[in-house]
Formats: sequence, C-alpha cells, structure tokens
Amino acid sequence: MTLTEKLLARAGGQAHVAPGDNVWVNVDVLMTHDVCGPGTIGVFQREFGRDAKVWDKQKVVIIPDHYIFTADSMSNRNVDILRDFVREQGLPYFYDVIDDPNGHWHFDASKGQLKQQWKGNYTGVCHTTLPWKGHLRPGEVLVGTDSHTCMAGAFNQFATGIGNTDGGFVLGTGKILLKVPETMRFYLEGEMSAGVMAKDVILHVIGEIGFDGATYRAMQWEGPGVNAMNMDDRMTIANMAIEAGGKNGIFPYDEKTGEYVRERIAENGTKSEFEPVEVDREQSFSYDKTFDLSKLEPTVACHPDPGQRKTARELKDVTLDRAYIGSCTGGKTSDFLAFARVVKGHTVKIDTFGVPATTKVVHELKETMWDGLSVWSILENAGVRMTENASCAACLGGPVDTFGRMNTPMKCISATNRNFPGRMGHKESQVFLASPYTVAASALTGKITDPRDYVG
Ligand code: SF4
Repeated sequence: MTLTEKLLARAGGQAHVAPGDNVWVNVDVLMTHDVCGPGTIGVFQREFGRDAKVWDKQKVVIIPDHYIFTADSMSNRNVDILRDFVREQGLPYFYDVIDDPNGHWHFDASKGQLKQQWKGNYTGVCHTTLPWKGHLRPGEVLVGTDSHTCMAGAFNQFATGIGNTDGGFVLGTGKILLKVPETMRFYLEGEMSAGVMAKDVILHVIGEIGFDGATYRAMQWEGPGVNAMNMDDRMTIANMAIEAGGKNGIFPYDEKTGEYVRERIAENGTKSEFEPVEVDREQSFSYDKTFDLSKLEPTVACHPDPGQRKTARELKDVTLDRAYIGSCTGGKTSDFLAFARVVKGHTVKIDTFGVPATTKVVHELKETMWDGLSVWSILENAGVRMTENASCAACLGGPVDTFGRMNTPMKCISATNRNFPGRMGHKESQVFLASPYTVAASALTGKITDPRDYVG
C-alpha cells in the first residue's frame, strides 16, 4: 500500500484498502477557523442539538486567522461566535485574538494596519499554527474546514480539507467517510541550485501535471531530494497539493520529522504518542515520475491559475504594480529570511507588503539580527510595508480594508499559493505566484526578475 492507503486503512480499522474503497475513518484532529467555523458549528448544532457536546474536546482546534484585522463587523462577529462556542463546550485549543473569554473582538481601524492589535493567545494562520502548537503528529488523520489543510501532509499524516457539512458531522461523531484516492508519486533527485526554492519545485510540478492534474489523488513525495529538505520546504510543497486538485500531499517519516514534532509537543504539552507509517516496497501508483531538482529554475505560475508555468527569465518583460509576501505557504520565518537576503541594502521599486504567517514569525524576525540590525528593520528599511498583524490578510482578498488587498486592477507577484481571478481582491487583477526569492528580486526591479541575479 502507499502511505495514504496505509494511513486510511489504519484509521478505518482495516488490514487493507485500495483506491476507490469507501472507508469510515476515525479523525484524530478537526481544525476550523473564523470563516468556516460558524457554519460548521451551525451544522453541528442543527443536526446534533443545541446542547450537544463535541465528540472529543482534546481533538478540536479552533484558529481565527482569515478576516481578522478588518473593521467589517460581520467578520469581527465570526470570531465572537467561535469564542462563545469554545466557552460553552470547554474547548482547550482556541487561539483567540483577544484574551477575555467573555469579550468581543473589535478591530480598531484608527490605529492603522501595521501595529499589533492581537493579545497573547493569538497565533495567526491556521496551517502554520498547527505544527507550531504541537497539533500535528505523524500517522494521524487531520481534517480541516480549509482547502490548504493538506499542508500537514509534510508530517507524514493524512490531512485534507473538508466542507462545513462534513465538519459539523465530524464535530458530532469524530468520523468521516472517505474514498481512498489513487496515489501519484513524485520522486525527487539532485540538489536545488542557488536561487531555487521548494516553491519552485511545487510550481514546476503543478505546471507539469496541470492545475487539475491530481484531482482527488494523493501526491506522495519521495527520494533523496525530499530527504534533504527541511520541514518548512516540505510544508510549502504539501500545502499546494490542492492547487493541482490533490486530495492530500504526503511525505515519508524521517528523523527530521520526528525531532520537529517532538520538540513542539514538549513545548506545548499536547498528546505525545504517535506512530508514523513507513514506505512499503510494494506500492502501486497511478503516476510515477522522477524530477531532477538540479535542472529547476526559478518558476512562476501566471494568471489565471497555478498551472500556468513559465520560468522567471521568460517573464522578464512583465511589469508589476505590487509584490506580496505572506500566507501559510510563503509567510514562514524561512520565507522572510530568504526574501530579506535579496532586499537587504536595496529599496523596493513597487508597493511591497509583508504579512507574517504567525505571531511567532513576527517575534523571530524582530529577534534575528544581521549586522546589528533586526531582519524586521532590514525589511522596513528596504521599503517593505511589514504588519505585525499576522493573518491570512490579502492572500484571499478579504473585506476591502484588508492589508495588501488589491482593490483596483493590477499585477502582483506573490509568495502565496493561489491565483484564480479575484483571489487577492479585484477580479481583473493578475497574480503571479513565485518563491520568496523571486518575489523579492521582482520587488526591487518592478518587473518579474530571476533572483539568481541577486543570490548565487
Ligand atoms: S494564508 Fe491564504 S491559503 Fe493559507 S489559510 Fe489563509 S487564506 Fe488560506
């Protein structure tokens, strides 16, 4: 069996499953957020009763992160609905924006978008919070009411996005009916050259198979190129499985995974037992291809979908209005450090927005010193508009006052993961997806730019 088949067989209490089988699976963790949480809670209460209790308090994680730093009162109210539910249910894992369990969230627009408005419990983007706060364990099943839940596949678990109806059912029962997907294997060999990042790998692969090339399939990553990657790189790749239509992305377990997970569990006191799944010698794939990482170039996905692959070099005449670094995919500390390497000592030529994925990233960028200056200051000195309000922000557009949102038609190069029309705001805008290196180099020139001119 493939990794995904082994995980679903185990979670379904079966010795063997095959693609196409329908299996009732026990869920280890359900994650929801401010956009889908209220709907999920509504389904749960309608179907199981207003006073029903969730199936297991320890297995529900609620993370407000999407439409947070906006004066839109309906969005603010969504966070209040989550808080009320958490209080009624006595849920231990809720990363609230404010610290008063009986309070109301209200964004104060008069203070501007840049300075911190969150309190101590707040964390930021859900998919980046889950590993940080010790909620991801190899061998488990994670479902989340968000399509990029697949990012957790980096940790050798089955992780997939579900809708609010399924979410409400899982809240009540802890179970979900899943069709076992076929598995596609992507075998990575060779080393990435300077200026090439994990983001280029996934953009290259999606360009190869198309933005629907993995529809309802598992994307399994193997090979020496995978073994050499750190956990942030693996997360970037697993995150974008859904951009090829994938049901999930999945990586083998190794000591890097174990060390990362054990450290976070110890820091947070979350459940410590886990049992990874190993790669079988006998596996059957619907697609199997080897990619030589040394041949990859800085890659860009052009408007209007993540499968529109070109190299950065081919796009050197495309002029830009905006650059954006942030999101679960591209707003990790390592992404900002790569970006800062390029812009250090230079000035950006176009409007450039920086949104850390989590509050931990904010702290790390302020505490990391290069030549006596914090990386945060280096970014600000280069002209990047950095906000301390870690969140999804303009990755998915959001209300009109969202930081970095494109409210007029424009061209933006972005370290995020999705570029369908209207994704980051105005429906006539164009979004070019690229690595933090490529976004940074392009911010400096105002045109799509191969970052190897700056890092090499
Ligand atoms: S950062 Fe973007 S892709 Fe990630 S969860 Fe938020 S909206 Fe979705």
